[in-house]
Amino acid sequence: MTRLAQTEGLNEDQRDILAAIREFVDNEIIPVANELEHADEYPQAIVDGLKEMGVFGLMIPEEYGGLGESLLTYALVVEEIARGWMSVSGVINTHFIVAYMLMQHGTAEQKATYLPRMATGEVRGAFSMSEPGCGSDVAAITSKAVRDGDDWVLNGAKMWLTNGGSSTLVAVLVRTDAEADEGASVYKKMSTFLIEKPSGFGEVRPGLTIPGKIDKMGYKGVDTTELVFDGLRVPADRILGGEPGKGFYQMMDGVEVGRVNVAARACGLSMRAFELGVEYAQQRVTFGKPIFEHQAVSFRLADMAVKVEAAHQMMVMAARKKDSGERNDLEAGMAKYLASEYCKEVVEDSFRIHGGYGYSKEYEIERLYREAPMLLIGEGTADIQRMIIARRLLEEYKTKS
Ligand SMILES: Cc1cc2nc3c(=O)[nH]c(=O)nc-3n(C[C@H](O)[C@H](O)[C@H](O)COP(=O)(O)OP(=O)(O)OC[C@H]3O[C@@H](n4cnc5c(N)ncnc54)[C@H](O)[C@@H]3O)c2cc1C
Repeated sequence: MTRLAQTEGLNEDQRDILAAIREFVDNEIIPVANELEHADEYPQAIVDGLKEMGVFGLMIPEEYGGLGESLLTYALVVEEIARGWMSVSGVINTHFIVAYMLMQHGTAEQKATYLPRMATGEVRGAFSMSEPGCGSDVAAITSKAVRDGDDWVLNGAKMWLTNGGSSTLVAVLVRTDAEADEGASVYKKMSTFLIEKPSGFGEVRPGLTIPGKIDKMGYKGVDTTELVFDGLRVPADRILGGEPGKGFYQMMDGVEVGRVNVAARACGLSMRAFELGVEYAQQRVTFGKPIFEHQAVSFRLADMAVKVEAAHQMMVMAARKKDSGERNDLEAGMAKYLASEYCKEVVEDSFRIHGGYGYSKEYEIERLYREAPMLLIGEGTADIQRMIIARRLLEEYKTKS
């Protein structure tokens, strides 16, 4: 346990889970993360270990074979895992969002079909809103499903699916205009489809192609892909919740918890960057003393520690708000915005402390430096968070005149 980023008021189960995860991260993830990341290799042994520990079912209710834990427990687990290697938290994030969307919006049959196998990690989830032509502007999606007898037929292209190749269940947002009433809001003209597929690349089932992995600057190991529909037939009962027209709202609900998750990842990455910086600053000697004793370096470390602590507490607050059953879009947006911006700054400060060695692939900070920018973009860019925050504040602080 470290002094920074403590969480008050955890129960014994939560403390036990976090201690087990931290041990796993220290022994099984940190020692191999750099090598796997540089090789862009999928962390199969780590994923198998997480399956055994029940991490894939952490928030899935016990009646479906999960551990029934809170969003807070989940976020703290993600923070620990990202401290070891952010890509591993990416493996579980989309799975968790799909399981959450099923728990909140699935029909009884959909929950019974998928949640028990998601809890064991046998079925693994990916979620897909973004397209080649739009990410922030979700309502501009063009992929479309058209009703044909008992099926829907899907056409179009999706972009940036984290776990697109390794997953076996994708929650996909597409337009279903034909079912909507004339003049209905654009937000009611979209539906989420639950699409089963084998893992892998190429035409994985008739009408569904996963072209291959996108070569990314960081966040390697975890696969990020495109997805192409060309006349994919999906039965009508695979629309999440059973009815068309609710997809946009379901996805936004999923993204809200996803934002807490991204904040948690940023906290884990910041914590690791701080640990690496404070360690290096005590070893490296310049002008006859450890660089920690130069005030410029110690002030840098102080700034980093303040940011690690502030981001953690805000992330915990956002998770607790959602767990209390209250709307948390404001808090999740604030936590995601603050934690990802601070993460970028803390990682850069640690990089500077490492001097020239920080630029070497032998040092962990080099990897963190390439990973941090993804957090500024995923689950809604910083600017989109600021729009959400400002909009919600205007609702709360509307002038009474
Ligand atoms: C590694 C990675 C993994 C991803 N995984 C997934 C996934 O699993 N599923 C998924 O659906 N998506 C995923 N995404 C996509 C991600 O959610 C989008 O990239 C993100 O939402 C931004 O969309 P965009 O890239 O289209 O940028 P754009 O929307 O084109 O934005 C470009 C720039 O314009 C700014 N901007 C846009 N609109 C406004 C506005 N109204 N006001 C002010 N500024 C604005 C943005 O802030 C940004 O700076 C992933 C992305 C990456 C990089």
